[in-house]
Amino acid sequence: MRRITAVLLLMILLFSAASAPAEDFLLGVAPEPSDITPSFRSEEPRDGEPDDSYWDTPMNLDDEEAIWKMLTLPITVADIDMNKQMVIYSQPDESSEGIGMLTGQSQGVHVLETLDNGWTKIETYSTSFHDSKVKNFNAFVTGYVPTKKLKTVEVNQNYGIVIDKLTQRLYLFKDGHLETSLAVSTGKYNPSAKKQQPYNETRSGEYLIIYTKTGALIDDESGMVCNYALKFNAADYIHEVPHRKNNDGSKNYRGFEEILGSRASHGCIRVQAKQNRAGYSMSVLSNLIKKRQDKNCVKLVIWEDYQGRQVKIPDDDTPLYYNPKGGSKYHSQDNCVNIKKRYLPLTEFPYGELDEAPYNKLTPCPYCVPSPRKAVLEEINKVHMESSPGEVMSVYNEIINGKKKK
Ligand SMILES: [Zn+2]
Repeated sequence: MRRITAVLLLMILLFSAASAPAEDFLLGVAPEPSDITPSFRSEEPRDGEPDDSYWDTPMNLDDEEAIWKMLTLPITVADIDMNKQMVIYSQPDESSEGIGMLTGQSQGVHVLETLDNGWTKIETYSTSFHDSKVKNFNAFVTGYVPTKKLKTVEVNQNYGIVIDKLTQRLYLFKDGHLETSLAVSTGKYNPSAKKQQPYNETRSGEYLIIYTKTGALIDDESGMVCNYALKFNAADYIHEVPHRKNNDGSKNYRGFEEILGSRASHGCIRVQAKQNRAGYSMSVLSNLIKKRQDKNCVKLVIWEDYQGRQVKIPDDDTPLYYNPKGGSKYHSQDNCVNIKKRYLPLTEFPYGELDEAPYNKLTPCPYCVPSPRKAVLEEINKVHMESSPGEVMSVYNEIINGKKKK
């Protein structure tokens, strides 16, 4: 009898241990599992089985094993200066049309075929910037680069990062499992504004985070400071959500922090500054990348929010929390680190009642970053049933054609 109880207890313990990280994570935003891969737009026939690379791995966070394999696989990059780019040609010939740009040292390519004439057929996302020689912003391209310019390098075996444009979340993988998620803002190209900036769309793809001593990016004109900047694609960095300085020198994140979880930057990836319950924030992330045991660079992959991808909508009975004594935020944790001890534990209410009084005025907490309201998630899903917001070349072509008409 005692043995049966012990076995039962053990099973309960094992079961709860296995489901704990998933529980934390579901309270943020997660993509619905999908078969769509980063090579979704590839017209290349795949002879044989798809490989384990970023390019052929479905954008499905639920398959931790496949994601971890993809994040720890070696990467093929261009062996040129980390701040320079080279042209991807339409034919194995330097006089053929340039169809895309490839950044040195950090940007990965999918090798399709090594020809015996000194050229390699590749596919990748074109990382054109506004001043690049070939302007094909964030477009998936298949073309040719000189074989002698490519090299394959090992990557870090302890950490890997997925940025999902669909959910606007960073997912940190550690030693084979999904460790935590943080809210981000990727690039915004202002599709409805008069002055559209398609080159601000963050370029999807597979990258290495190159640790440089950049520290903070400071824009003197606007007073914007972006701490803990880590380079992943020449002028594109992953860094803390920007702040300005108050008169007393303290940091003021207003205007930037509230829009985490939606597109907002000029191409960089802004990451939440506040430490979540698992103890992670951009400063912690930057420190662990800097102090990584294995000296190889950490891989960072960016998932395109292609048409057909959808986010999970939490069940109505998913618990949320608030402070009934005047709290203005809703939380994903009953012991959120942002709340003074005397107000803990917070009061539970179900996600399904978030739009009813007294919860309808609450805003999401920037520390524990709970799920957005159902209407917000349903709008994301509606948009992605009908379009691929990150595919900005049609926007750019419209601008160019408009100018030509004048
Ligand atoms: Zn909170």
